[in-house]
Amino acid sequence: MYAADELLTQQGVRVNVFEKLPTPYGLVRAGVAPDHQSTKRVTRLFDRIAQNPGFSLYLNGDVGADLTHDELLEHHHAVLYAVGAPDDRRLDVDGIGLPGTATATEVVAWINGHPEFTDLPVDLSAERVLIVGNGNVALDVARILTSDPDALARTDIADHALAALRDSQVQEVVIAARRGPAASAFTLPELIGLTAVCDVVLDVADHDLVIRDLADETDPLTRNKLEVLTKLGDATSSASRPRIRLAYGLTPQRVLGDKKATGVEFSVTGTDEHRTIPAGLVLTSIGYRGKPIRNLPFDEVRAVVPNDGGRVIDAGTSRPVCGSYVAGWIKRGPTGFIGTNKSCAAQTVHNLVADYNDGRLADPAHKVAALERFVRGRRPAVIDADGWKAIDDAEVARGGGLRPRAKFTRVADMLEAAATAPVPPVHKRLLAGLRR
Ligand code: NAP
Repeated sequence: MYAADELLTQQGVRVNVFEKLPTPYGLVRAGVAPDHQSTKRVTRLFDRIAQNPGFSLYLNGDVGADLTHDELLEHHHAVLYAVGAPDDRRLDVDGIGLPGTATATEVVAWINGHPEFTDLPVDLSAERVLIVGNGNVALDVARILTSDPDALARTDIADHALAALRDSQVQEVVIAARRGPAASAFTLPELIGLTAVCDVVLDVADHDLVIRDLADETDPLTRNKLEVLTKLGDATSSASRPRIRLAYGLTPQRVLGDKKATGVEFSVTGTDEHRTIPAGLVLTSIGYRGKPIRNLPFDEVRAVVPNDGGRVIDAGTSRPVCGSYVAGWIKRGPTGFIGTNKSCAAQTVHNLVADYNDGRLADPAHKVAALERFVRGRRPAVIDADGWKAIDDAEVARGGGLRPRAKFTRVADMLEAAATAPVPPVHKRLLAGLRR
């Protein structure tokens, strides 16, 4: 959406956004935690961008399956992929994959009602959940799992997740990092936000590690993080509500359990000493991973599309692949905030526009008006901006004024809501056709 916004500042440009799901806005809808509604409010900006007369939405169509890259290029001067990093990095230890193990990013998608994760088995019947890795995603999941369900009921959390949380037996979420406190991957604002709403504690030995790191640390930002950690409570004190324990210096060796995960065996990082943390649910939270895009080169090590400032680069010739661009996590890897994507997209669009102005982009083979017919021929169930507005309105109405929205979590329900979109009057359809 940032790339579309940037492109639409150029006179005469049209932008068509394609998306596999019937709903737009990617991780803002399915990744940002439901109790972070102020962050989700960036969708208002996206809605405004989508109202630009040069902008069209093609939802519920899978690029790579329903439409190919080459077909899209026949209809456009350029195709820009902003597909993010939809997979997660997998921890390569014995026992991963046992029932009772999952990735934190899967759980985030389940919490947020992503239709592909509605049926994820999330077992909250044991007292302890263990999360491996301590980035912001781990903090998001730990916070949701220990929050008061009545407070979450006022958010747009998926109904199935809220029901599971109401039945939850979880009393402690342990977030285990392989390195020490100074190397914590979470950011300072997220740590402060967490300590404001949750009980967060440390073992005595981890308190000592924080003090040790603080004595050596010179970076002011890291010092600030460590200062916050020094003030955390002690894990030996009794708990009156579910809490989060941060643990350090633990390298995962194997998931324990036979038919189901019962915990994780760690080595104390850099030693032969072993330690076991029992848990009924084991989540790995070690980062997202990009997925290859059909017909484009892919760097398997970095899990990104090789590029130079957003221009896709052919690994063999080291030359740009004509008309192909990337922005966001598929361009630079899964790091940074939502806002990081604004400057990232601006760089790609700057290069795309320069290529156009230098005559390096081939004219599309088809007239602008042919796209709509072509897409509907391939994918009759494609949803446009009116269909999305009908889904959006229906979700907000389902929220009953008590929640920002009550999400549909099944594609069939989304399609049913989209079908209620009013058919625009003939003169509007004619005008839209002329504009194309
Ligand atoms: P992340 O920040 O990259 O953290 C990954 C964690 O996994 C680190 O603690 C890392 O430890 C650990 N790890 C990696 N490989 C491991 C292994 N083999 N064994 C054990 N631990 C391992 O990833 P993320 O939490 O998925 O976040 C992705 C991006 O989204 C980040 O930029 C994050 O800030 C952003 N995000 C932001 C927000 C927000 O602002 N509210 C919310 C969610 C996500 P090492 O450091 O030792 O490698």
